[in-house]
Amino acid sequence: MGTVISRFLDALRFWFAAIRDVLLPRGCAGCDKPDEVLCASCTRLFRHVYRKMLPGDVGRCYGCSWYQGAVRHAILDWKDHGDEECDRPFALVLADLALKILERQIPCDQARALSLVAAPSSVASMHRRGRWQTLPLTRLMARRLNDHGFSALARPVLKLEGVQGKSVQAAGAQSRSRRIEGHVHVTEDLRGDDSLFIVVDDIVTTGATMGQCISALRAAGARDVIGLALACTPNRDE
Ligand SMILES: [Zn+2]
Repeated sequence: MGTVISRFLDALRFWFAAIRDVLLPRGCAGCDKPDEVLCASCTRLFRHVYRKMLPGDVGRCYGCSWYQGAVRHAILDWKDHGDEECDRPFALVLADLALKILERQIPCDQARALSLVAAPSSVASMHRRGRWQTLPLTRLMARRLNDHGFSALARPVLKLEGVQGKSVQAAGAQSRSRRIEGHVHVTEDLRGDDSLFIVVDDIVTTGATMGQCISALRAAGARDVIGLALACTPNRDE
């Protein structure tokens, strides 16, 4: 019975999207160029390797872009206005960032498993957005990395517990970081797990969230952890 209902809902969603596309043709999420999900010139803005220092002694993470202009527009469209069609182009640029890092910064044997860990969302924010938006990115990234000969798997082992969620821009980065402190939990014992853990988040501002995700994975036994984001705010000296 459940399957029948879920098939019916899928069909309804499909037809709704088809009718919407005819009535309201979409524009690029970054610049509104007609008939594109993310146009070539906006995609190019996500093709960088930027480093962002994380607070404390956690180290640094890497971002595809700086969080400004068309990048900011595209991410907010995806994140807060439900533009799920951006999942694919965003996952592709993140997977390509991972490939560059694994080639240059952290040489990694292809035989070594990659565990892609979605940065956690609060229950309230998942409820508001109707989904855990970094999770589909890790699933699509895993496919792309596997196409390149890696053995990657999306492993959503981070949970945010006991946090009232507000979006980044509504709450401000400082207060967000205070809110989630001590609330990031790892749902598996990772001792003895030899895979390379890659935390995937959308926006890194102060780096507090990313830092806490990386520290929590290390505390659970993960030996090597790196952090990737779609966009970072520039470091103060840049
Ligand atoms: Zn564009």
